[in-house]
Amino acid sequence: STFSTPVTVSLIEGDGIGVEITESVKRIFAKAGAPIIWEDCDVGPIIKNNNTAIPDKAVASIKKNKVALKGPLATPIGKGHRSLNLTLRQTFGLFANLRPAASIQGYDFLYKDIDFVVVRENTEGEYFGVEHQINDDNVVSIKLITSKASEKVIKFAIDQAAKIDRKKVVVVTQETVQPKTDGLFKKTGESLASYNKDIEIEFELLETYIYNSVKDPKKYHDYVVVAPNLYGDIITDLNSGLAVGSLGMTPSANIGTDVSIFEAVHGSAPDIAGKDLANPSAMLFAGCMLLEHVGLGEYSEKIKKAALATIAEGIKTGDLKGKSSNTEYTNAIIAKL
Ligand code: NAD
Repeated sequence: STFSTPVTVSLIEGDGIGVEITESVKRIFAKAGAPIIWEDCDVGPIIKNNNTAIPDKAVASIKKNKVALKGPLATPIGKGHRSLNLTLRQTFGLFANLRPAASIQGYDFLYKDIDFVVVRENTEGEYFGVEHQINDDNVVSIKLITSKASEKVIKFAIDQAAKIDRKKVVVVTQETVQPKTDGLFKKTGESLASYNKDIEIEFELLETYIYNSVKDPKKYHDYVVVAPNLYGDIITDLNSGLAVGSLGMTPSANIGTDVSIFEAVHGSAPDIAGKDLANPSAMLFAGCMLLEHVGLGEYSEKIKKAALATIAEGIKTGDLKGKSSNTEYTNAIIAKL
């Protein structure tokens, strides 16, 4: 790790429940003794040259610290506003989205003992965002795939597999239907066969992968799954639904070459904001991914263990069919630490 302790982290509290769950994370990290200094960061949004932009001060903070923990941001409603999340991804070149989804003891969902790890390409594909209106009844969308972005994200998936001790990477595409775009993604994967001789690279059609992941999800315990942007987006949400069943539990990491931003997958939950009902776990586990990223995995283990044990004992928030408030759940974790 290139980070020296204490690690300064840019903290974007976010909107809605962001305020409450950020407070929980800060309290739990402090009790665990994690050597983190939080640097509060207001990301705006501001409008610059007719585009959504992030204030210079926030950009400077994140560039300097190289790591940020981010609460949910409400997308401003109205024409001409690009989503701030997309803006962050583009501003910092966050090329890979890493999303684990594992079953939780004490909250059985559709399946037990599921443990998916998926890496989604985060910058191109259909999300490149170019669509054309030919006329009222005919439209086209442009999907961009480059060997450069494909190589970066597949290499990241292989590195991740090595790091978390999985033996295989499966590259998921629909190259039968999209031989040029998905074909290039797959070919790039094939060219990386000897990138790490300890990790085997396999290939699966999207339709086969989806079928297998629902029919026999444990098959993927040995794998890191990597896919182009849109497929990755769908696969990660499917996995969260299969394994976890609450948005309040799922973290993700947006990885760039220089900067990485860790966040909860859920939004600002305006329906429960300010009521002390939010589950802070997704943001807490995003913080844990950050700890692992900066070489402080021991604190991550300690915090995750305390949170999961608290849930297993039945102290859990409403999204997990529990009766505890955010504060009660947070206090119980702190008591364990
Ligand atoms: P949402 O994720 O905010 O809420 C969906 C449902 O899940 C709601 O019923 C909410 O109460 C519940 N929920 C979400 N997080 C929870 C938690 N931690 N604990 C308990 N329950 C939780 O999705 P939405 O309502 O469609 O979006 C609200 C706003 O958030 C929008 O402005 C949207 O653009 C934004 N958003 C931001 C992000 C992000 O910053 N990464 C992601 C998704 C949505």
